[in-house]
This record gives sequence, structure tokens and C-alpha cells, in this order.
Amino acid sequence: METQESIRTVTTIGEMQALSEQWRKQGVSIGLVPTMGYFHDGHLSLIRHARQRCKVVVVSIFVNPIQFGVDEDFEQYPRDLERDSRMAAEAGADVLFAPAAAAMYGATFQTAVQVKQITQGLCGASRPGHFEGVTTVVCKLFHIVKPHLAVFGAKDYQQAMTIRRMIIDLDFDIDLDLAPIVREESGLALSSRNEYLSPEERREAAILFQSLRLAERLILQGERDPEKVLLAMQAMIDAVASSKIDYIALVDPETLTPVQVIDRNIRILLAVYIGKTRLIDNYLVELSTGID
Ligand code: AMP
Repeated sequence: METQESIRTVTTIGEMQALSEQWRKQGVSIGLVPTMGYFHDGHLSLIRHARQRCKVVVVSIFVNPIQFGVDEDFEQYPRDLERDSRMAAEAGADVLFAPAAAAMYGATFQTAVQVKQITQGLCGASRPGHFEGVTTVVCKLFHIVKPHLAVFGAKDYQQAMTIRRMIIDLDFDIDLDLAPIVREESGLALSSRNEYLSPEERREAAILFQSLRLAERLILQGERDPEKVLLAMQAMIDAVASSKIDYIALVDPETLTPVQVIDRNIRILLAVYIGKTRLIDNYLVELSTGID
């Protein structure tokens, strides 16, 4: 299908499965972009990426109750289906799949998909049950939309690595593409949760990216001790009064285990509260120059 500005909205699982079944029979490639809606340019970049690789693009919007903790923001999470629908159509999506929670989780629902190891630390430590909620819903979306390609953002890096593991372990015949993080001019990673920030907090939230760039500078200048990099980042973030660090970690980009010495490419991941809003970000620091 060509890029178009009208979009078909599907709300039932049966209709979505029938559509996808039909496309597959016709040999049409299907791209899926799973989201919780309230679109920004980060989401749209994923849709455009899928558009380039697949004949049809399905964007799912589902604020997934089982990936939120009891004290988290499920109720408040921003929602605007009409605006999302317009934006998704403009970015080239063909179908918006927006099921109701009751359709996804019937009264007798009792199954969970768990990726055991890679979900333990980082966001998994502060959000128990979160990744199980994510893998369970993504597994369902894969069975409903039957995509050839799924596109995820590097913004939620641990999530993407977890889903990559699930795809391999459960033999899903699906390609996963990781799209780069889209940022504001200040460096702040776009997020639907930025909506919660006051104008002042929004300015202060740029400290996450600034601390990642500081870490990169230190490492490229020769610092090899992850603890020293971490302390420098901590000091920078702590200087912002409204901030509270949840975690900062320098990890192997594949396994997400902490590195003891910085002697190869690493990913730095962090979660920081700005006021009441928990924000995440991450950054790849590349040591290899390509010369050796
Ligand atoms: P969400 O709606 O927040 O669950 O995000 C849906 C998808 O969009 C996930 O794969 C995210 O990683 C991705 N995403 C969110 N923010 C960004 C961003 N700033 N840049 C790129 N991808 C993003």
C-alpha cells in the first residue's frame, strides 16, 4: 500500500487477525510498531522506518495495564486516540490497532511470558513485574498482527533487548529493528511522560543527556574505571535540585551486565526522577575507532 493519509482503525483481535492472515496469503510484508500512544516524533520515526521496510504498517496503541505497578501512572498516562490516528496516518501507517483492555485480558486470563535474566537489573529492579507485562503483551501482539518486522526504539533499550531475547528463545519468525533515540534540541529524549514535566522541570531534565555526554567525554579522554565515570555523572545530576537518581549503569550492550573495566563499546543506561516524573535514557559509547 502507498503512503496515505487515511488509516483504518481496528479494535477487535479477530478483525486484526483476519486482516493479517489475508495479507500473508497475498505475500504482503507486515511491519508492526507497538506503542502506548500519545505520539511524538520518536514514535513517528519508528512508523517511517517500518514504512520503508514493509508493504503494510500496523501501529498498535495499547496502554497495557499489566506492565504498570500499583503505584505507577496507568490512570494518568496521557491518551489521545484522535490525534494519534492523524499523526500515524501522516507518517504512513495503514492500520491502527487499538484494542480495549477487556479484549486483551479476559476475566479468565492467566498466562505470563517471562524472560528471566536480562530483565532482573536496571528498570526491572525498580519496576517488579514490568518486563513480564511487556513481554506478555508483545507476545500477544505478535500472534494477533503476525508481523514480519517489529520496530522498537533504542529509548527503551532494556525492553528492546528483552524482546530480542524472547524472539530468539520462542522462535518467533520476526525481524526486530532498533530505531535511534529521537531527542529535543536540549538533548532530552522525547517521551510521552515528558508531558508530566513543568516548563522548569523540562529544562532540568536535559541533565540526563548532559550526564551521558559527560561520561562519553571522560571515557574518550582515557578514563577506564566505570566507578569514576559513574561518580562524575552522579555529581552532575545531583546538582539539579529536583533530581533523584534511580540508577546509573555502565553495561555490556548485549548482555546488559555491568562492565568492570571500560575496554570495549559500552551502553550507559540511567533512570532519574525529575520531580515526580521518572525518566529513562541511554547512550552507546564507542571505543572502537574502526582503525584497528
Ligand atoms: P511507548 O509508547 O512509550 O511505549 O513507546 C513505543 C515505542 O516507541 C518503543 O519502542 C519506544 O522505545 C519508542 N520510543 C519512545 N520514545 C522514543 C524516542 N524518543 N526515540 C525513539 N523511539 C522512541
